[in-house]
Amino acid sequence: MEVYASKDRVVGAARVRRALPQRTRRTVGAWCFADHLGPMSVEPESQGLGIGPHPHAGLATVTWLVEGSLLHKDSLGSEQPITAGQLNLMHAGHGIAHAEEQLSSGPRRATTMHGIQMWVAQPDLTRHGAAGFEHHGTLPQHEEPGGVATVLLGTLGAASSPARTDTPLLGAELVLQPGTTSTWGLTRAYEHALVVLSGSVVVDDGVALVPGAVGHLGTGRDELVLSALAGTEPTRLMLLGGEPFEAPIVMHWNYVGRSRAEMVEASEQWNAEDGRFGRVDSALARIPSPVPV
Ligand code: MN
Repeated sequence: MEVYASKDRVVGAARVRRALPQRTRRTVGAWCFADHLGPMSVEPESQGLGIGPHPHAGLATVTWLVEGSLLHKDSLGSEQPITAGQLNLMHAGHGIAHAEEQLSSGPRRATTMHGIQMWVAQPDLTRHGAAGFEHHGTLPQHEEPGGVATVLLGTLGAASSPARTDTPLLGAELVLQPGTTSTWGLTRAYEHALVVLSGSVVVDDGVALVPGAVGHLGTGRDELVLSALAGTEPTRLMLLGGEPFEAPIVMHWNYVGRSRAEMVEASEQWNAEDGRFGRVDSALARIPSPVPV
C-alpha cells in the first residue's frame, strides 16, 4: 500500500482534507476527487457551508454525510435535502449547475457537519450526454464479523447499490467496531483507496491510516484485512475502487475532460451564461469560473 497525505484546502467557509487528486495519483478507478470535511460546528443562522450555483461537466458528484444535512438544488429542477447515511449522486454529462445550501430551519438544521464530497470521472460514452440526479435515502449493507459496509456505488460482498455507475466502480463506507479485525472481499481487477473519516485502522501489511492519510492499493487483490483502533469509538472509512480509468483526465475547477481546450470552453460558457449549464433557483451568489491561462 502507498500512503499519501491529504492537502488542506479551503472551500467556501470550510477547511477540507483533499484526499484526491494526488500529484502522482490522479485517479483511483474513475474516482478523481475527494474532499473530507469536518467534523465542524456550523452557526445555525449563518450561510455556513452553503455553496452558491456553480457548474459541473464530465463528472458525477457523490455526496455522503456522516453528520449534518444539506439542501441540494440543481438546474434540472431537483430540490433534495440530504442527511447522514443518504446518497446524492449527480451526473453532469455535458453540463449541469447546482447549489448546496445549509438547511436553515426545521428539525434537520445542521449544527455539526461531517462528510465527504467525491467526484467520479465520466467515460467518453456518457460525458457528452445528458445530466441526471439521483437521491438514495437508504442503501444496502454488507456485514462481516467486526464491521458493516454501506454500499454507495457498485457491489461489496452480498450488497449491490442501485445507484448509477458509468464504469466498473466501488464506493462503500465501512464502520469497524473498536479492537476488531475484519476481512473484506475485493475485486481483483480494481485498484482501491482508503480514506479514513474517523478513528484509525491498520491495513493488512501493518501500515496505520488516520484521517488525513490516503492509502492506495493496486490491482490484483482478493481481500483486505482491516484492524480497527481499540477504544470506544468505531472507525469509519471510505473504500473507493474501480477498474483503472480509460484515459488520462484533465481537471480544471469543477470540470473534468480530456483537453485544456475543453476546460477553456466550459469556463467561458459558464461565465457567459450561455445556457449550457442551465439555471439554479438559489438565493446564494452564482460563482464565476476561473478561466485557464
Ligand atoms: Mn459542486
